[in-house]
Order: sequence, then C-alpha cells, then structure tokens
Amino acid sequence: MERIQLKALGKINLGLDVLGRRENGYHDVRMIMQTVYLYDEVTLEKRKEPGITVASNLVFLPTDESNIAFRAAKILLDEFGEKHGVSITLKKHIPVAAGMAGGSADAAAVLFGMNRLFGWKLSEKELMERGVTLGADVPYCIMRGTALAEGIGEKLTRLPAMPKCHVLIAKPPISVSTKMVYEKLDSSAIVDHPDIDGIIEGLRAKDVTRVAGSMGNVLESVTEKQYPVITQIKEEMLRGGAMNAMMSGSGPTVFGLFRERSMAKKTAEQIRQKGFARQIYTTTIHNVRKNRRND
Ligand code: ATP
Repeated sequence: MERIQLKALGKINLGLDVLGRRENGYHDVRMIMQTVYLYDEVTLEKRKEPGITVASNLVFLPTDESNIAFRAAKILLDEFGEKHGVSITLKKHIPVAAGMAGGSADAAAVLFGMNRLFGWKLSEKELMERGVTLGADVPYCIMRGTALAEGIGEKLTRLPAMPKCHVLIAKPPISVSTKMVYEKLDSSAIVDHPDIDGIIEGLRAKDVTRVAGSMGNVLESVTEKQYPVITQIKEEMLRGGAMNAMMSGSGPTVFGLFRERSMAKKTAEQIRQKGFARQIYTTTIHNVRKNRRND
C-alpha cells in the first residue's frame, strides 16, 4: 500500500466538568465525548525519500513541526527508524481552534493511517500511548464514539452509543485558545458542576431527552462571559427547537441537538442571517465502527 485516505472526525462534548488543577498546570476533567459526522480529509502517501511534508487547504495552518499531524508522523517514523518518508495532505472542514478537537483528530488519523501504511501492527492501545504525548484529546480521537474521559482526558471508558439525533454546529468568527481558557478558570470556585452522571444514565436508558437535559460545560463560565455571541447562538438554537444547546470544549463553537433535521436547517439559516456565525454545519451524531476510519 502506498496511499491511504482517512476521515478525521470531530467531537463535541455533551458534558465537561473540571475537578481540579494539577501542579503541572493540567486539569483533572470529567467529560462526555461524542463523535460527530464533520471531518477533515486526511491523505497519507509513502515517499521514497525520508522526511515529512504537510499540505493543507488553509493558508494559515502551519506545515512544519507546529502542525500536530507532522508531530504525529515524526513520533512513529523516529520510533521505527523508517527510511521512507510520508506526505500528509489535510483538507480541513472541522473549524480550527474551536473546541472540536480538529488537530487531535488529524493526529489520530495520522497515527492510525501510518500504522496501516507502513505495516507496523501497533495495537489501538499502543497508538493511544503515542497519541497522549501529543495532546490529551488524541487517545479519544483514536477511540471515537461515545466515551467518558477522565484524568486529563486520556482515561477513557466507552459508553453506550448516543441515540441518533441531528446536530447543528455554529462557530462564531473568533478563535479561542484552549490553554488560555483553562488558565482563566478558577477550578476551586466552581459551584455549579454539570450532571455528568445524569448524561451517563440517559445514555444507558437510550433517552436522548435525558442526555440533552443533563448537558453542561463549566468552561462556558470563561468563554461565554468574554463573547456574548455564544449566548446569542445558544438562544437562537433553543428558540429554533433544540432539545438543548451548549458550547463544545473551550469554545467558541456552539452545538444544538435536534430531533428534526428540518428544524436544525431552519435554525442554521436564522443564525446565518443574524450574522452570528459563518461556519455552520447541520450534521448528525456519528457512532463509528471499530477500525474503520474512512466511513
Ligand atoms: P480542542 O478541542 O482539542 O481544544 P481546538 O479545536 O481548540 O482543539 P485545534 O483546531 O485542534 O483546536 O487547533 C488549535 C491550534 O493548533 C490552532 O491554533 C492551529 O494553528 C494549531 N494546529 C496545529 N496543527 C493543526 C491541525 N492539524 N489542525 C488544526 N489546527 C492545528
């Protein structure tokens, strides 16, 4: 095999709680992760000569070591002392710096895809161990589906699949640094913790209303306060009939869960017309089959 094409799926957080801050600056979290059908297209090609090249459809995205996809490739090429190199082409659709783990999803796809392309036969667990050195969300992006993430986000427990529903995603034209949001959060002052166990119970009961009703994200207290457009988008989604609407990760992306696709579509149009966001996607919850990264 000389070439492989993969879909790097983005995620939303159905719940995000922060339990405390570690001395090294990392935070202990409790998050419910969910894959959505919004993805970057990642193409990997074996090169005769050594080295890594990265190309993407976004001019502002770095193509050197500061691209996480580059670093993912480097880890494996170095580890296996590979004489061949790899060309990585990224067609980005997941909003960047938006709380949807776009970079982590690309890195996960590179680790998974290169393992196949070069025939190294690393297990999923071994890929996750390499992944966590790149970022706390990378192991989840290797696993995908519905999961509870604890520790710094790397301790994963698979949960019953989220029942199918429509997801409206809107990213206002602001970029948010995850690091900055966590730095501004005073984890010892959080009084209103989201009902993570309620979400898990809802998933076990396949009760999408219960899941939606239990959603919560403590990071909204930082990002939403700074950017009122996040509140405006949430309100618009609720007015449009969303079961609930919330910011994903550290934001600024907002998502709403809808029973009907037509309602999600109509709300998307309202958000566009009011100028709250330009990057708007109507998609679905995606429960992926194991070891399939191109479906
Ligand atoms: P998370 O939800 O994990 O916090 P995010 O959505 O906040 O992720 P990303 O889109 O993954 O953030 O990227 C954040 C930063 O990383 C951007 O400033 C971007 O320049 C840089 N970056 C490096 N590599 C990539 C990549 N392959 N895709 C997107 N961003 C990348």
